[in-house]
Amino acid sequence: MALISTTSKPDFLIIGAGIIGLSVALELKKQFSDSKITIIDKEKNLGAHASGRNSGVLHAGFYYSDDSLKAKLCRNGNNYWHAYCDEKKLKINQCGKLVIARNEGEIDRLDELYRQGQKNGVELELITEKQAKEIESNINTFNKALFSPTTATIDPHEILASISKDVLNANIEIIYNRKFLKKIDNIIITNSGNFEPGYLINTSGLYADVIAREYDFSREYKILPFKGLYLHAKNDSLKLRTNVYPVPDLKNPFLGVHFTVTVDNETMIGPTAIPAFWRENYSNLNNFNLNEFLEIISLESSLFINNNFGFRGLALREIKKYSKKKLIKTAGTLLKDINLNNFTSWGNTGIRAQLVNTKTKKLEMDFKFEGDKKSFHILNAVSPAFTCAEPFSKLIVKNIKSKLN
Ligand SMILES: Cc1cc2nc3c(=O)[nH]c(=O)nc-3n(C[C@H](O)[C@H](O)[C@H](O)COP(=O)(O)OP(=O)(O)OC[C@H]3O[C@@H](n4cnc5c(N)ncnc54)[C@H](O)[C@@H]3O)c2cc1C
Repeated sequence: MALISTTSKPDFLIIGAGIIGLSVALELKKQFSDSKITIIDKEKNLGAHASGRNSGVLHAGFYYSDDSLKAKLCRNGNNYWHAYCDEKKLKINQCGKLVIARNEGEIDRLDELYRQGQKNGVELELITEKQAKEIESNINTFNKALFSPTTATIDPHEILASISKDVLNANIEIIYNRKFLKKIDNIIITNSGNFEPGYLINTSGLYADVIAREYDFSREYKILPFKGLYLHAKNDSLKLRTNVYPVPDLKNPFLGVHFTVTVDNETMIGPTAIPAFWRENYSNLNNFNLNEFLEIISLESSLFINNNFGFRGLALREIKKYSKKKLIKTAGTLLKDINLNNFTSWGNTGIRAQLVNTKTKKLEMDFKFEGDKKSFHILNAVSPAFTCAEPFSKLIVKNIKSKLN
């Protein structure tokens, strides 16, 4: 080990400056005020991955089964960001959300969502078609709809910038262009210098499983990346008053193609959930990694052949949404008499770091973490983890504290 030069010995080293890494750092500082905390990120600036490439929706918390962490954290997370944006004078669009049933067959699931919302303590209104049309006249709903008044949209980049300022003000160090490469004993080797942290926290999103395996965690999990594409209108001609979502299939974690009203009152269509072939497969051969490609394609082929969790149907359905026409047609079922042909430009693609259990061959539906006395790994920080970031970070630090005692 004498050959490895150690440059820094922080008490806590966090890998990944996404919304989870930044929020965990702030919470750690509250709990361990004298500690030295360092965050490293391989990119040159904030928001290069999921935290800067999402829909910007503050979810209300009615999709998730009441025994899940998502259900327990979402309502508080939504409240937290509302108060934070208010305090810091950040943009927030309190536009709410309509979930609509397109036919009689979807009514049972709409009712189920309402019951789920009630169990989760979320403010939610089951309304008639007429009431729904008073909120958004163009919707195509059958008989009734759900209205969520607390769903809102924010600018994720604005929040990241503000939180990173809070982090720096709390005397926490953020180092960009610093990539975790591997661990040798307790030494973290990066592309530029090494660390010997007292404790390591892995909030690296798409690479969380890879880094966790360096610590002998994530043995039965792998990240399966799913690509989220968005379509924007040319002249921003479609003005909707609220987000319009379909009734989702609650067996999978994706909410279906919908209309999001952004914080600036623009409307976008998306996102898709197209299986990606490597983790940062944003476009063309961008960030191509042969080993990852082979590993992920082999997992996807096996899921496809065995049709685990209906992957075959999902993949075939989603892949068609590379066609703008198809995506518009899918979204079009949510609205009546609206011409969507001016939705012609692709927006910033996002990639979901979705965890698969390689033993059960199922998608993990809830947040997941693993850890011990030396390290802690956030393995499935999928949507709505942006919304949940603050209460989630409290839960993570509580768990870390219990490991350290
Ligand atoms: C298409 C899409 C839409 C979504 N919509 C919503 C929404 O509307 N509302 C909501 O609440 N949530 C939404 N989400 C989910 C939300 O964006 C994520 O749950 C959240 O951003 C996860 O944050 P994170 O910090 O875990 O990950 P990230 O933001 O991905 O951060 C991880 C960081 O780790 C860094 N990193 C990775 N590997 C290394 C390494 N080896 N060394 C150093 N650094 C490394 C990366 O550069 C990155 O900055 C959406 C996600 C997607 C993809």
